[in-house]
Amino acid sequence: MKNSEFRKYGYELVDKIADYFVEIEKYPVKSQLNPGDIIKQLPKSAPENSESFDDILKDFDEIIMPGITHWQSPNFFAYFNANNSFESILGEMLTSALGVNTFIWQNSPAGTELEEVVMNWLRDMIGLPEYFSGVIQDTASTATLCSILTAREKFTDFQINKSGFEHNKFRVYASKEAHSSIEKAVKIAGIGYENLVKINTDKNFDMISNDLELAIKNDIQNGLIPLIVISAIGTTGSTSIDSIKENGEICKKYNVFHHVDAAHVGTALVLDEFRYLIDGIENVDTFVFNPHKWMFTNFDFSAYFVKNQEYLIRTFEIMPEYLKTNVDNRVNNYRDWGIQLGRRFRALKMWFVIRSYGVEGIKSTVRKHLQLTQKFKNNIEQDERFELLAPVRFNLVCFRYNPGNLNVEELNKLNEKLLNSINKSGKAFITHTKLGDNYTIRVVIGQTYIEERNVDELWELFLSQINSF
Ligand SMILES: *Cc1c(COP(=O)(O)O)cnc(C)c1O
Repeated sequence: MKNSEFRKYGYELVDKIADYFVEIEKYPVKSQLNPGDIIKQLPKSAPENSESFDDILKDFDEIIMPGITHWQSPNFFAYFNANNSFESILGEMLTSALGVNTFIWQNSPAGTELEEVVMNWLRDMIGLPEYFSGVIQDTASTATLCSILTAREKFTDFQINKSGFEHNKFRVYASKEAHSSIEKAVKIAGIGYENLVKINTDKNFDMISNDLELAIKNDIQNGLIPLIVISAIGTTGSTSIDSIKENGEICKKYNVFHHVDAAHVGTALVLDEFRYLIDGIENVDTFVFNPHKWMFTNFDFSAYFVKNQEYLIRTFEIMPEYLKTNVDNRVNNYRDWGIQLGRRFRALKMWFVIRSYGVEGIKSTVRKHLQLTQKFKNNIEQDERFELLAPVRFNLVCFRYNPGNLNVEELNKLNEKLLNSINKSGKAFITHTKLGDNYTIRVVIGQTYIEERNVDELWELFLSQINSF
């Protein structure tokens, strides 16, 4: 493609993207295709000869778009959102144009230094102490793996990095509601999922810290080694909250590493009223939250903070001759702050978002989401046919339809049917979880451009669906 063609199609695409956001509610939120529908429309092998960009765009419209689930639709209430914003899209355009790889400082001083500045901004915005240093990871899953590996190396004085495991006695602790990425990380780190101890939760699905201490004591008595506790601020199922303060004190007492997974809910810490959640942060070693979930910055951008950067760097450091530079002792070389060598210039989009919104703009958008969530919650509470299944603490409502006289199995089937009928309507996309034995509908209200109207329409949709049963 020539520069002049890039200009032509570039303008066209920006128009197309702007139109997309105007028309986004016209698409079925969840793609209505069946497995294989896309593959069967595409050739088996790559084209030998050049195809025109017009043809490519035509296929994008006709083949790809019907297979898109519209994650940026204001009627997307599923999972946790992965929201973006115009600012973030523009930042991403420049990142892709520059195409720099930020694994060491000299690769683009701005790539590294903007990352340091933006991570310090984020740290201060969510109220973490100044002694935390930050680095962008692709996902919270990677960040949590980094914490487990760092804990492992700190504990063994970097011996497993050197000579590998002889045998494993390490134990990792998280609540029964903790994210599946922890189990994955424990497997990768060579600790084994049998050594992931899942601590019971209370009626609100928060970890019972007392049980954590008992489990740690019990393991020590059995000659095992408590390595790391992973506390959640905002679990994925129900945004339940483990006590950072109580878990932190236990970690301090038994000399256990403490990681906090605040992947989704970390964003809420921009508001003063949620700062109590990080009481006890002095006993936290590492902390992760995902601006790519709820801070208007498109995937991927996971903000990872560590109290002691030396432990992290010593865990991941590599020093091949071809990567040595004469400024190494004066700059951050982020290749040593995680698993990847090559790294995208992700700080740019976050910088655009923070500057364009201002911290106040971010706070007020989050507040709006929380208020809309309360409104939806009130609808549930005021209608006898529905019931909440978990406390509504942030922007997630967990509930079910319960018309009475049904046992758990029947209720589960009924709610699954309700969820499927909502998603089939194309008017909204919602997902579910299991809380205890109960099939639970989850509604997350965190889309960048969501309006009260969207939340009202979702409620109307629920009412019309149950009336049609
Ligand atoms: C979403 C989520 C994760 C995983 O996030 P990724 O960035 O996709 O790895 C981990 N923990 C919690 C609590 C989450 O909600």
